[in-house]
Amino acid sequence: MNRAFSPSNATSAGVRRTQIFTLVAVIVPWLGFVTAAVLAWNNFLSLRDIVLFVIMYLIAGFGVTGGYHRLFTHRSFVCPVWVRFLFGVAGSMAVQGPLFFWVATHRRHHQYSDIAGDPHSPQNHGEGFGAMIRGFYHSHVGWMFRGADAMAVRSLPDLSRDKTARVIHRGFVVWALAGLALPSVVGGLISGTWMGCLTGFLWGGLARVCVAHHATWSVNSVCHLWGGRDFETPDDSRNNPAVAVVSLGEGWHNNHHAYPQSARHGLRWFQLDPTWMLIWSLARVRLASNVQGIRQASAKV
Ligand SMILES: [Zn+2]
Ligand SMILES: [Zn+2]
Repeated sequence: MNRAFSPSNATSAGVRRTQIFTLVAVIVPWLGFVTAAVLAWNNFLSLRDIVLFVIMYLIAGFGVTGGYHRLFTHRSFVCPVWVRFLFGVAGSMAVQGPLFFWVATHRRHHQYSDIAGDPHSPQNHGEGFGAMIRGFYHSHVGWMFRGADAMAVRSLPDLSRDKTARVIHRGFVVWALAGLALPSVVGGLISGTWMGCLTGFLWGGLARVCVAHHATWSVNSVCHLWGGRDFETPDDSRNNPAVAVVSLGEGWHNNHHAYPQSARHGLRWFQLDPTWMLIWSLARVRLASNVQGIRQASAKV
Protein backbone atom coordinates (compact mmCIF):
# COMPACT_ATOMS: atom_id res chain seq x y z
CA MET A 1 0.00 0.00 0.00
CA ASN A 2 1.23 3.47 -0.89
CA ARG A 3 1.63 5.44 2.38
CA ALA A 4 3.09 8.62 0.83
CA PHE A 5 0.52 11.40 0.71
CA SER A 6 0.24 13.70 -2.31
CA PRO A 7 -1.45 17.08 -1.80
CA SER A 8 -4.93 18.00 -2.92
CA ASN A 9 -5.90 19.47 -6.28
CA ALA A 10 -9.23 20.81 -4.96
CA THR A 11 -10.11 24.27 -6.24
CA SER A 12 -10.40 27.15 -3.76
CA ALA A 13 -14.00 27.87 -4.86
CA GLY A 14 -14.92 24.24 -4.24
CA VAL A 15 -13.26 24.31 -0.86
CA ARG A 16 -15.06 27.54 0.12
CA ARG A 17 -18.41 26.08 -0.93
CA THR A 18 -17.78 22.95 1.10
CA GLN A 19 -16.73 24.97 4.13
CA ILE A 20 -19.94 27.02 4.04
CA PHE A 21 -22.05 23.89 3.64
CA THR A 22 -20.17 22.27 6.51
CA LEU A 23 -20.70 25.28 8.77
CA VAL A 24 -24.45 25.23 8.12
CA ALA A 25 -24.64 21.44 8.46
CA VAL A 26 -22.82 21.53 11.80
CA ILE A 27 -24.46 24.57 13.41
CA VAL A 28 -28.11 24.27 12.35
CA PRO A 29 -28.69 20.74 13.76
CA TRP A 30 -27.01 21.84 16.99
CA LEU A 31 -29.34 24.87 17.22
CA GLY A 32 -32.26 22.52 16.53
CA PHE A 33 -31.14 20.25 19.33
CA VAL A 34 -30.98 23.18 21.78
CA THR A 35 -34.42 24.42 20.68
CA ALA A 36 -35.87 20.92 21.05
CA ALA A 37 -34.38 20.65 24.54
CA VAL A 38 -35.83 24.02 25.58
CA LEU A 39 -39.27 23.01 24.30
CA ALA A 40 -38.98 19.66 26.10
CA TRP A 41 -38.17 21.54 29.30
CA ASN A 42 -41.47 23.39 28.77
CA ASN A 43 -43.41 20.13 28.34
CA PHE A 44 -43.44 20.14 24.53
CA LEU A 45 -42.04 16.62 24.26
CA SER A 46 -44.27 13.63 23.58
CA LEU A 47 -43.76 9.91 23.17
CA ARG A 48 -44.39 10.53 19.47
CA ASP A 49 -41.31 12.77 19.25
CA ILE A 50 -39.15 10.20 21.04
CA VAL A 51 -40.31 7.43 18.69
CA LEU A 52 -39.66 9.66 15.65
CA PHE A 53 -36.18 10.43 16.97
CA VAL A 54 -35.33 6.75 17.50
CA ILE A 55 -36.74 5.55 14.15
CA MET A 56 -35.03 8.31 12.17
CA TYR A 57 -31.79 7.79 14.11
CA LEU A 58 -31.81 4.10 13.18
CA ILE A 59 -32.71 4.73 9.51
CA ALA A 60 -30.02 7.38 8.93
CA GLY A 61 -27.57 5.66 11.29
CA PHE A 62 -27.71 2.31 9.52
CA GLY A 63 -27.57 4.24 6.25
CA VAL A 64 -24.16 5.55 7.28
CA THR A 65 -22.77 2.47 9.02
CA GLY A 66 -24.20 -0.25 6.78
CA GLY A 67 -24.48 1.85 3.61
CA TYR A 68 -21.91 4.65 3.29
CA HIS A 69 -19.28 2.79 5.33
CA ARG A 70 -19.47 -1.00 5.06
CA LEU A 71 -21.27 -1.28 1.67
CA PHE A 72 -19.96 1.64 -0.42
CA THR A 73 -16.56 2.36 1.14
CA HIS A 74 -15.35 -1.14 1.98
CA ARG A 75 -17.54 -3.33 -0.25
CA SER A 76 -18.08 -5.65 2.71
CA PHE A 77 -21.15 -7.21 1.11
CA VAL A 78 -23.21 -7.18 -2.07
CA CYS A 79 -26.94 -6.49 -2.28
CA PRO A 80 -29.68 -5.89 -4.88
CA VAL A 81 -29.77 -2.47 -6.54
CA TRP A 82 -32.91 -1.34 -4.69
CA VAL A 83 -31.39 -2.24 -1.30
CA ARG A 84 -28.15 -0.48 -2.27
CA PHE A 85 -30.18 2.57 -3.30
CA LEU A 86 -32.11 2.64 0.00
CA PHE A 87 -28.84 2.31 1.98
CA GLY A 88 -27.40 5.29 0.11
CA VAL A 89 -30.53 7.44 0.50
CA ALA A 90 -30.74 6.60 4.22
CA GLY A 91 -27.05 7.46 4.65
CA SER A 92 -27.57 10.80 2.90
CA MET A 93 -30.29 11.61 5.46
CA ALA A 94 -27.56 11.71 8.14
CA VAL A 95 -26.29 14.94 6.50
CA GLN A 96 -22.62 13.93 6.63
CA GLY A 97 -21.88 14.96 3.07
CA PRO A 98 -22.49 13.51 -0.41
CA LEU A 99 -21.64 9.84 -0.87
CA PHE A 100 -18.43 10.30 -2.92
CA PHE A 101 -17.01 12.85 -0.46
CA TRP A 102 -17.69 10.55 2.50
CA VAL A 103 -16.24 7.46 0.81
CA ALA A 104 -13.15 9.28 -0.53
CA THR A 105 -12.42 10.83 2.87
CA HIS A 106 -12.80 7.55 4.67
CA ARG A 107 -10.68 5.57 2.23
CA ARG A 108 -7.98 8.18 2.69
CA HIS A 109 -8.28 7.79 6.46
CA HIS A 110 -7.57 4.07 6.10
CA GLN A 111 -4.71 4.62 3.66
CA TYR A 112 -2.89 7.15 5.86
CA SER A 113 -4.22 6.31 9.33
CA ASP A 114 -2.56 8.57 11.91
CA ILE A 115 0.23 9.71 9.56
CA ALA A 116 0.55 12.69 7.20
CA GLY A 117 -2.41 12.59 4.81
CA ASP A 118 -4.96 11.30 7.32
CA PRO A 119 -7.81 13.83 7.03
CA HIS A 120 -8.85 13.55 10.68
CA SER A 121 -6.25 12.06 12.99
CA PRO A 122 -6.14 13.30 16.62
CA GLN A 123 -2.47 12.25 16.75
CA ASN A 124 0.66 14.27 15.91
CA HIS A 125 -0.60 17.59 17.30
CA GLY A 126 2.22 17.95 19.84
CA GLU A 127 2.87 16.90 23.42
CA GLY A 128 0.76 17.41 26.54
CA PHE A 129 -2.86 18.00 27.49
CA GLY A 130 -3.31 21.04 25.21
CA ALA A 131 -2.12 19.04 22.21
CA MET A 132 -4.57 16.27 23.06
CA ILE A 133 -7.45 18.77 23.18
CA ARG A 134 -6.31 20.28 19.86
CA GLY A 135 -6.08 16.80 18.36
CA PHE A 136 -9.52 15.88 19.66
CA TYR A 137 -11.10 19.03 18.20
CA HIS A 138 -9.35 18.58 14.86
CA SER A 139 -10.36 14.93 14.49
CA HIS A 140 -13.93 15.49 15.74
CA VAL A 141 -15.04 18.46 13.66
CA GLY A 142 -12.18 20.92 12.98
CA TRP A 143 -10.74 18.93 10.05
CA MET A 144 -13.79 19.72 7.93
CA PHE A 145 -12.88 23.42 7.97
CA ARG A 146 -9.19 22.96 7.13
CA GLY A 147 -9.36 23.77 3.40
CA ALA A 148 -8.04 21.94 0.38
CA ASP A 149 -6.00 19.38 2.28
CA ALA A 150 -9.00 18.21 4.27
CA MET A 151 -11.20 18.14 1.18
CA ALA A 152 -8.79 16.24 -1.08
CA VAL A 153 -10.98 13.74 -2.88
CA ARG A 154 -9.26 10.90 -4.61
CA SER A 155 -10.82 9.20 -7.60
CA LEU A 156 -13.37 6.50 -6.95
CA PRO A 157 -13.40 4.37 -10.12
CA ASP A 158 -15.69 1.73 -8.66
CA LEU A 159 -18.39 4.21 -7.60
CA SER A 160 -17.99 6.43 -10.67
CA ARG A 161 -18.95 3.42 -12.81
CA ASP A 162 -21.93 2.64 -10.57
CA LYS A 163 -25.13 4.38 -11.72
CA THR A 164 -26.89 3.82 -8.39
CA ALA A 165 -24.01 5.43 -6.51
CA ARG A 166 -23.98 8.39 -8.91
CA VAL A 167 -27.74 8.98 -8.45
CA ILE A 168 -27.35 8.83 -4.66
CA HIS A 169 -24.38 11.21 -4.74
CA ARG A 170 -25.98 13.80 -7.01
CA GLY A 171 -29.28 13.74 -5.12
CA PHE A 172 -27.66 14.33 -1.73
CA VAL A 173 -29.47 17.60 -0.94
CA VAL A 174 -32.83 16.08 -1.90
CA TRP A 175 -32.32 13.01 0.31
CA ALA A 176 -31.02 15.11 3.20
CA LEU A 177 -34.03 17.45 3.06
CA ALA A 178 -36.38 14.46 2.74
CA GLY A 179 -34.89 13.13 5.98
CA LEU A 180 -35.89 16.38 7.69
CA ALA A 181 -39.33 16.58 6.04
CA LEU A 182 -40.36 13.00 6.79
CA PRO A 183 -40.55 13.25 10.62
CA SER A 184 -42.16 16.71 10.32
CA VAL A 185 -44.98 15.40 8.11
CA VAL A 186 -45.50 12.26 10.19
CA GLY A 187 -45.45 14.27 13.44
CA GLY A 188 -47.99 16.74 12.01
CA LEU A 189 -50.30 14.05 10.64
CA ILE A 190 -50.32 11.93 13.79
CA SER A 191 -50.88 14.87 16.14
CA GLY A 192 -53.06 16.88 13.78
CA THR A 193 -51.27 20.05 14.95
CA TRP A 194 -48.60 22.42 13.65
CA MET A 195 -46.79 22.04 16.98
CA GLY A 196 -46.59 18.28 16.33
CA CYS A 197 -45.12 19.09 12.92
CA LEU A 198 -42.54 21.40 14.52
CA THR A 199 -41.46 19.03 17.31
CA GLY A 200 -41.33 16.16 14.79
CA PHE A 201 -39.00 18.30 12.66
CA LEU A 202 -36.86 19.21 15.69
CA TRP A 203 -36.57 15.73 17.24
CA GLY A 204 -36.80 13.41 14.21
CA GLY A 205 -34.88 15.91 12.07
CA LEU A 206 -32.40 18.39 13.51
CA ALA A 207 -31.76 16.90 16.97
CA ARG A 208 -31.40 13.44 15.44
CA VAL A 209 -28.89 14.76 12.88
CA CYS A 210 -26.96 16.52 15.66
CA VAL A 211 -26.66 13.43 17.90
CA ALA A 212 -25.77 11.17 14.95
CA HIS A 213 -23.12 13.65 13.79
CA HIS A 214 -21.33 13.44 17.11
CA ALA A 215 -21.70 9.66 17.24
CA THR A 216 -19.97 9.30 13.84
CA TRP A 217 -17.36 11.95 14.59
CA SER A 218 -16.57 10.19 17.89
CA VAL A 219 -15.35 7.24 15.83
CA ASN A 220 -12.77 9.58 14.27
CA SER A 221 -11.80 11.29 17.53
CA VAL A 222 -12.51 9.11 20.59
CA CYS A 223 -11.69 5.83 18.81
CA HIS A 224 -8.21 7.07 17.90
CA LEU A 225 -7.52 8.25 21.47
CA TRP A 226 -9.22 6.13 24.12
CA GLY A 227 -10.09 2.44 24.35
CA GLY A 228 -8.59 -1.03 24.17
CA ARG A 229 -6.64 -2.58 21.33
CA ASP A 230 -7.25 -6.23 20.43
CA PHE A 231 -4.94 -5.98 17.40
CA GLU A 232 -1.49 -4.45 16.85
CA THR A 233 -2.38 -2.23 13.91
CA PRO A 234 0.11 0.41 12.60
CA ASP A 235 -2.29 3.21 13.66
CA ASP A 236 -3.75 4.30 17.03
CA SER A 237 -7.24 2.91 16.48
CA ARG A 238 -9.16 1.80 19.60
CA ASN A 239 -12.18 -0.26 20.56
CA ASN A 240 -14.52 1.94 22.59
CA PRO A 241 -17.73 0.31 23.91
CA ALA A 242 -19.56 3.61 24.58
CA VAL A 243 -18.95 4.81 21.01
CA ALA A 244 -19.98 1.36 19.74
CA VAL A 245 -23.41 1.77 21.37
CA VAL A 246 -24.20 5.22 19.93
CA SER A 247 -22.62 4.46 16.54
CA LEU A 248 -24.45 1.14 16.01
CA GLY A 249 -21.26 -0.93 16.21
CA GLU A 250 -18.68 1.34 14.59
CA GLY A 251 -16.88 1.89 17.91
CA TRP A 252 -15.04 -1.46 17.55
CA HIS A 253 -12.67 0.61 15.50
CA ASN A 254 -9.41 -1.19 16.25
CA ASN A 255 -11.02 -4.41 14.98
CA HIS A 256 -12.12 -2.48 11.90
CA HIS A 257 -8.62 -1.15 11.16
CA ALA A 258 -7.28 -4.69 11.53
CA TYR A 259 -9.89 -6.07 9.10
CA PRO A 260 -11.24 -3.12 7.06
CA GLN A 261 -13.29 -5.23 4.67
CA SER A 262 -15.01 -7.33 7.30
CA ALA A 263 -18.77 -6.65 7.46
CA ARG A 264 -18.55 -7.51 11.14
CA HIS A 265 -16.76 -5.09 13.48
CA GLY A 266 -17.74 -6.50 16.88
CA LEU A 267 -15.69 -9.70 16.74
CA ARG A 268 -16.09 -11.02 20.29
CA TRP A 269 -19.38 -12.20 21.79
CA PHE A 270 -19.76 -9.16 24.03
CA GLN A 271 -18.87 -6.62 21.32
CA LEU A 272 -22.38 -5.54 20.35
CA ASP A 273 -22.55 -4.61 16.67
CA PRO A 274 -26.12 -3.74 15.55
CA THR A 275 -24.95 -2.99 11.99
CA TRP A 276 -23.53 -6.49 11.71
CA MET A 277 -26.85 -7.86 13.04
CA LEU A 278 -28.64 -5.97 10.25
CA ILE A 279 -26.28 -7.26 7.53
CA TRP A 280 -26.53 -10.80 8.97
CA SER A 281 -30.34 -10.55 8.89
CA LEU A 282 -30.31 -9.27 5.29
CA ALA A 283 -28.09 -12.21 4.33
CA ARG A 284 -30.55 -14.64 5.95
CA VAL A 285 -33.37 -13.35 3.70
CA ARG A 286 -31.02 -13.29 0.66
CA LEU A 287 -30.84 -9.50 0.44
CA ALA A 288 -27.09 -9.53 1.15
CA SER A 289 -24.46 -11.86 -0.24
CA ASN A 290 -20.68 -12.14 -0.54
CA VAL A 291 -20.52 -10.99 3.07
CA GLN A 292 -16.86 -10.49 3.98
CA GLY A 293 -15.64 -11.96 7.25
CA ILE A 294 -12.24 -11.67 8.89
CA ARG A 295 -10.98 -14.72 6.98
CA GLN A 296 -11.75 -13.18 3.59
CA ALA A 297 -10.85 -9.66 4.65
CA SER A 298 -7.58 -8.23 3.43
CA ALA A 299 -5.68 -5.06 4.29
CA LYS A 300 -7.12 -3.28 1.26
CA VAL A 301 -9.85 -0.65 1.64
ZN1 LIG B 1 -9.86 5.08 12.11
ZN1 LIG C 1 -13.64 2.07 7.48
